[in-house]
Amino acid sequence: MDISNHLIWLRQYYLGADQALSVEPAKATTLMSVGRGQEAIIGAIRNQGFMVTSLPYDKTDPPRTGFPLLLGCAGFTANLDELFTVMGIGSGDQYLILDGEGESREVPIDTFWREREWWVLQVTLAPVTDSSIEQTTDQSLLRNHWFFGPLLRAKGVYFQVAIAALMVNVFALTTSIFSMIVYDRVIPNQAIDTLTALLVGAGIVFLSDFIIRTLRGYFLDSAGVAADTLIGEALFEQVMEIKTSHRTESSGATASLMKEFEALRDFLTSTTLVTLIDIPFAIVFLLVIWSIGGPMVWVPLAAIPLMLGSGLLVQPIMRRITKANQVDGHRKHSVLVETLQGMDTVKAMGASQVMMKRWRTAVASQSQLGLRQRMWASFAANVANLAQQLVQVGVVTVGFFLVGEGALGFGAIIACTILSGRAISPLAQLTQLLTKVNQSMASYKSLDALMGLPREHMKGRTYVRRPSLKGRIEFRHVTFTYPEASQPTLKNVNFTIEAGEHVGILGRIGSGKSTIAKLLLGIYQPNDGVILVDGVNVSQIDPDDLRRNLGAVLQDIWLSAGSIRDNIAIRSGSISNEELLRVGAITGVSQFVDLLPQGYETQLRERGEGLSGGQRQAICTARALVGAPTTLVLDEPTSAMDQQAEQTIVNCLAQESNNKTLLVVTHKAALMKLVSRVLVIDGGKIAYDGPPERLAQGRGA
Ligand code: ATP
Ligand code: MG
Repeated sequence: MDISNHLIWLRQYYLGADQALSVEPAKATTLMSVGRGQEAIIGAIRNQGFMVTSLPYDKTDPPRTGFPLLLGCAGFTANLDELFTVMGIGSGDQYLILDGEGESREVPIDTFWREREWWVLQVTLAPVTDSSIEQTTDQSLLRNHWFFGPLLRAKGVYFQVAIAALMVNVFALTTSIFSMIVYDRVIPNQAIDTLTALLVGAGIVFLSDFIIRTLRGYFLDSAGVAADTLIGEALFEQVMEIKTSHRTESSGATASLMKEFEALRDFLTSTTLVTLIDIPFAIVFLLVIWSIGGPMVWVPLAAIPLMLGSGLLVQPIMRRITKANQVDGHRKHSVLVETLQGMDTVKAMGASQVMMKRWRTAVASQSQLGLRQRMWASFAANVANLAQQLVQVGVVTVGFFLVGEGALGFGAIIACTILSGRAISPLAQLTQLLTKVNQSMASYKSLDALMGLPREHMKGRTYVRRPSLKGRIEFRHVTFTYPEASQPTLKNVNFTIEAGEHVGILGRIGSGKSTIAKLLLGIYQPNDGVILVDGVNVSQIDPDDLRRNLGAVLQDIWLSAGSIRDNIAIRSGSISNEELLRVGAITGVSQFVDLLPQGYETQLRERGEGLSGGQRQAICTARALVGAPTTLVLDEPTSAMDQQAEQTIVNCLAQESNNKTLLVVTHKAALMKLVSRVLVIDGGKIAYDGPPERLAQGRGA
């Protein structure tokens, strides 16, 4: 007696029949000897690639969702027969259970549950990860980071920029030293030769300085371009890959967020950042001042806390404003994008005023924030400006006394004035710099959160490859609630569609028909239960294979800007002429395309504007048929068509769908001719499953 029957059933449930028996013999043997404790059982289940969660036992509240559950008797170590898999709820208020012998039967829930004290294990499918990939990502975490990775690759450039900054700062000493020597040596002696030599020297230094500054800008820009492409690509890929259930932001807000990346990148490759490198050089300048002018160094030293203080003081305020500003920016963008998307409706409904008001609110709030931000920024800038002037005057004044004592020449005063200006000027830009840092941090955080959302193709996850699927579809105990919805849309839905079967799905509006299609296509994942195609869990099949084998027309029509041909070929990017004509003929697209002067090359505007609703729908259906997928999922493919167009499509689909699985959601009688079986969804459950004729009779009765 071992637990392999339970494991075989779990594998069959989650992975499908053909993988169920692959509980490896070696593993099966160890199962015999796993011991009989709860820990050992959990270990054995985990070994098979499942996730096990222990649930509390509440005598008064037997679980009615979250199957499969494994129930073990508390004192069970003595008897392995006391282990049951609860597969689901059977007929009436009964658990469908499986015992160690592999026999299934139904037991009344209440009595069974109260009979003894159980420990309860919930078994779910663990995401299959390729451990080798995971390890390498772990080791080089920073290198593979979406943002720091590409930047790190440009670290050589930043090193060069730092060297350039060093040189520029050293060269900056030239002017001051030059002035000092001219005042102290050249003027008293009228030494024209020395002056000439000094001028030549200074000229060379200035030329080098010019070249280095130009190169520095170029280096930074080129680093920016390289990182830009890589990071931008990673972001766009992520936006496309985010799991539908986690896509909570509006399109406008996401678009606005993507734009923030540009600000972030501009900052990282801007000369503002160079100011940051300049700050430590203040110390070098101060040292030089000290060596030339001695006590004069106290003047700029005294100014530093003042400037730092005012710069840092406004930062918390700036941070708050930046955050609020970001939110307002997103809101503004949402209004804009939403309005643009529905321009016709906005106009037809006379909704312009309402949208205008929303826009005005967002803009007003943002400009108020902008005002406050500028006010604080200019306050800090003015303090810095004042400090700079005070330093100049202060240095000259201290210099006056020192010269009076005969300790210094006039040249030293000039040099120290110039140098102290240099030393504190990066600090004057500190407020501006920190504000930019704040903005960049806020952008980075939002973008990083976006990058952290779960993706459809998880990195490091392996999928079952199924290049060709026959199209046997099975829903097992599928329960699904939309994220943020309070009620489940589908409750414990069970059905099987054999390969090649033609099935219609009927139901009232909002009954969950489209939801079934979306779950089948893997756009959403069920909360409970599994969906199998050809016996393999949909979430295990490589999404590319799934979408190649499943031709789908969704209820929401989506076309992109480009030619009609591009739109039909969108699944693979290119299409042969024969294939184009074939799908065009089946769907009736050719009927209207032939009348257009440019035929299939006719350019469509965004979202297919320029075509009628029915025409757009026909193109969507044509798109689904490209590459002859073995399964067709059509969600109201003719809702916008007249009877004639519908008839054309139905007749051709009847031929096209021969030997193919066809799942068609519809309200229309014409499409019923295509199907031999009907599922009626009502209240999230299957209310009828059978031939269409009987349904018609039933309704008549
Ligand atoms: P119709 O005939 O109007 O197309 P349907 O049967 O296709 O209706 P579904 O689109 O499956 O209905 O929606 C079923 C239920 O799920 C509806 O009550 C709807 O309110 C809800 N729903 C649909 N999409 C979402 C979503 N993205 N978020 C939250 N709830 C949703
Ligand atoms: Mg629908």
